[in-house]
Amino acid sequence: MSVTVQLPDGTSKQYDGPVTAARVAEEISPRLAASAVAANVDGQLRDLSTELTEGKHKLKIVTDRDEEALETLRHTAAHVLAQAVVRLYGKDVQYTIGPPLMDDFQYGFYYDFDLPAPIGTEDLPKIEQEMRKIISEKIPLQRMELPVEEAKKQLSRLGQGYKCEMIDDLVRNEHVETVSLYRQGDFLDMCRGPHLPETGKVKAFKLLTTAGAYWRGDERNKMLTRIYGTAFFNDKALAEQLGRIAEARKRDHRVIGKQLGLFLINESVGPGLPMWMPKGTVIRMELEGWLRSELLKRGYQPVITPHIGKLEMYRTSGHYPYYEHGLFPTMELGDADGYLLKPMNCPHHIQIYKAVQRSYRELPIRFSEFGTVYRFEQSGELSGLTRVRGFTQDDAHIFCTHEQLEAEVESCVDLTKLVLSTLELDDYRVRIGLRDPNDSKYVGGPEHWDLAEENLRHVVRKLDMNYVEEIGEAAFYGPKIDFVVKDCIGREWQLGTIQVDYNLPERFDLEYIGADNTPHRPVMIHRAPLGSPERFIAILIEHFAGAMPLWLAPVQVAVLPVSEKTSDYAAKVAEKLRVAEIRVELDDSPEKIGAKVRKATLAKVPYMAVIGPKEAAARSVAVRHRTAGDQGPMDLDAFTAALREEIDSKGKRPLGGRKAK
Ligand SMILES: [Zn+2]
Ligand SMILES: [Zn+2]
Repeated sequence: MSVTVQLPDGTSKQYDGPVTAARVAEEISPRLAASAVAANVDGQLRDLSTELTEGKHKLKIVTDRDEEALETLRHTAAHVLAQAVVRLYGKDVQYTIGPPLMDDFQYGFYYDFDLPAPIGTEDLPKIEQEMRKIISEKIPLQRMELPVEEAKKQLSRLGQGYKCEMIDDLVRNEHVETVSLYRQGDFLDMCRGPHLPETGKVKAFKLLTTAGAYWRGDERNKMLTRIYGTAFFNDKALAEQLGRIAEARKRDHRVIGKQLGLFLINESVGPGLPMWMPKGTVIRMELEGWLRSELLKRGYQPVITPHIGKLEMYRTSGHYPYYEHGLFPTMELGDADGYLLKPMNCPHHIQIYKAVQRSYRELPIRFSEFGTVYRFEQSGELSGLTRVRGFTQDDAHIFCTHEQLEAEVESCVDLTKLVLSTLELDDYRVRIGLRDPNDSKYVGGPEHWDLAEENLRHVVRKLDMNYVEEIGEAAFYGPKIDFVVKDCIGREWQLGTIQVDYNLPERFDLEYIGADNTPHRPVMIHRAPLGSPERFIAILIEHFAGAMPLWLAPVQVAVLPVSEKTSDYAAKVAEKLRVAEIRVELDDSPEKIGAKVRKATLAKVPYMAVIGPKEAAARSVAVRHRTAGDQGPMDLDAFTAALREEIDSKGKRPLGGRKAK
């Protein structure tokens, strides 16, 4: 028997019999062994204790500096958490699932528990203390591969019914015969692993919050207690992450939206159904108005369609009865067939396309609409403006020929880039979702797919964009481009999709008469640069921490008379700005000027026009910027013109040459 181990530097080692990854690390250098946390064996992350058996193996020792090590650390931290909870709350604790989280902005891991008595955030310090004790005990984690029945026996002896249920699932769905258990002192868990070799290697961790979570995510099941935490290999990385989380909390659009009076979600109207208050409506109308004018320049034709449609139409489109997002229940209105609150605008726009016979000369046809759609999300998944049950899409459907597709996609990409750069969301990457050639679920001819995929690639290359191709990420109906945007605190958001569709033209039998005088099938593009104004504005609120750029600010200038003596002139200033279509608020309350400035600053008003006797006499204003402070006196006409300039240029030509933020 011979084992050959190939190392990343190209060298290899020979062994007469099985050898563990840990021993290979030790032989390479004791320092490597000390910083080792896991092993990458033939491309798979494994425990260090993994034995390499007969044959040739590629081995990379994973240390705490490798990115993949973090997942192993967090996996192990979750087990330490579970062991601590069992130690503190007794044998009646049942632990269910506890995965590491690698893509979540806030959390690094969680574990769901069925507890004999409820616990809350106030209990977390005690649990952290027990975790620290477990870490100081340096308890080894031992992997055991056991036959299913034996594993169930051991876990049911510990009263772990959920784990036994999960094993039954694995047998049913994946036909497994063995499962891996990990022993960690007196604690036993079922897990795929890998884990750190011992608990002492869990270094910097923090428990963050508790939450309710249904078993299997199903509202009909028991509500469990979820404990969220995060873990890193050093205190500095943990401190940085805690700083980012604190910053994100300060920027939470639900909090800022309430403080600034932007939107309202309440129980009377219903969960997930946002209402826009006057100040929020201003932001939305500015954003939509700007986009509308950009669409007109690009040859889009606006349309307006109702919020409901007949079930039959959604049967044709395929949205009913199955849809990836929930549908609201259907309405019976006495007709033979029911109606549906629309989950998508596409079928309505298709009706407009089909209303007359179309000629190739008319194509491309671009119908745009800020169309409100309704989706019945689970109440547990609703969150502020980002997860709602009623929202608007800055939607459009482009009907074109296959030859026109590339130019249309390019125009959509160009528009999305304009939207993002205007809103100072310049840090983004692009994903191209392509079909999986081994899958047969796709509709449309392969020759069209090949062409469309090449078109998308071509466009992002031509526009010199940072992109990745993701095989298998296309929708079944066509390839797509997604924009993934990073906000100023490093969170990623998916915005702006452009999707090619071969399915709906087929289902609705769409046609145009070609130059050859025979009918042809057009291709459709669905696209939404903002995605939805609701979600987009939530992201903007967090990105700008509520301080919108001047052109979007609900109140652009606060006019602040220093005393009653200058109130009359202040009112005239406000009136003049208003006539110039600048949004003004006059604060002629008897408060001191310092208090008025503070109030306007807290309300995130970009500019203040302070008016004392000197300004009144000179017909000028003393200009103050919310963050940059005093800008000195300015002639009223010059101030008005400078504001207009900054507004009309969307901040590109700020007042006084300073970048307004
Ligand atoms: Zn685990
Ligand atoms: Zn659509």
